[in-house]
Amino acid sequence: MALNLLMLGPPGAGKGTQAERFAVARGIPRVSTGDILREAVHANTEIGLRAKAVMDRGELVGDDVMIGIVRERLEKQDALGGFVLDGFPRTVAQASALDGIMSSRDPLIVVDIVVPEAELVRRLGTRLICEECGTGAPVAVASASCAKCGGRLVQRADDNQAVVLERLKVYHRQSEPLVEYYRVRPTFRSIDGAQAPDRVAADLASAIEAAGNGHGARG
Ligand code: AMP
Repeated sequence: MALNLLMLGPPGAGKGTQAERFAVARGIPRVSTGDILREAVHANTEIGLRAKAVMDRGELVGDDVMIGIVRERLEKQDALGGFVLDGFPRTVAQASALDGIMSSRDPLIVVDIVVPEAELVRRLGTRLICEECGTGAPVAVASASCAKCGGRLVQRADDNQAVVLERLKVYHRQSEPLVEYYRVRPTFRSIDGAQAPDRVAADLASAIEAAGNGHGARG
């Protein structure tokens, strides 16, 4: 049975960090729509050029574009045996399209990472990513270079204070309704994201196991 995991949560909840960790541990791809868009911006593709202005304002890229990107990505061979989806869906329309994409596949396990608003603002204001490969870096190593590729660590263009506040507003208005959309499913769990990353990772693993068992899958 494929492990098709979907991470929900506001910006700064730690979705990217946990998704990456979990995907590496299980040998399945992490599909981050934010990373896909940032790569498109970096590569100056048509989608990238159009997405950049929207991302810089903290708003959402259109549903049709995002649904197309994810449909194509999830159909690739490496995602057929499972994946971790991070940053998608962000609207109910995207969630409903994803249900269509997943209709003949193993069910989604949905984990919502809950973090208080003040902690999100603090994290988003201080986090750094690698300019080259986009990997996030713990604040403690702020002056060092990227552990993965040696690139320079910088603040994300959309992590400045004004854009952070807009992204949180957009989250509450357009993405938070997804919690209600998925909560009714037996494969939904929520975890406390305001803990040390190792604790969050342990809770995530337990939540996934419980959600899988709830659906009748074992192991
Ligand atoms: P993230 O790295 O997930 O915080 O995404 C960064 C930005 O990319 C967001 O603020 C949006 O502008 C855009 N984005 C990423 N995923 C989506 C999505 N599923 N729908 C619409 N816009 C998205």
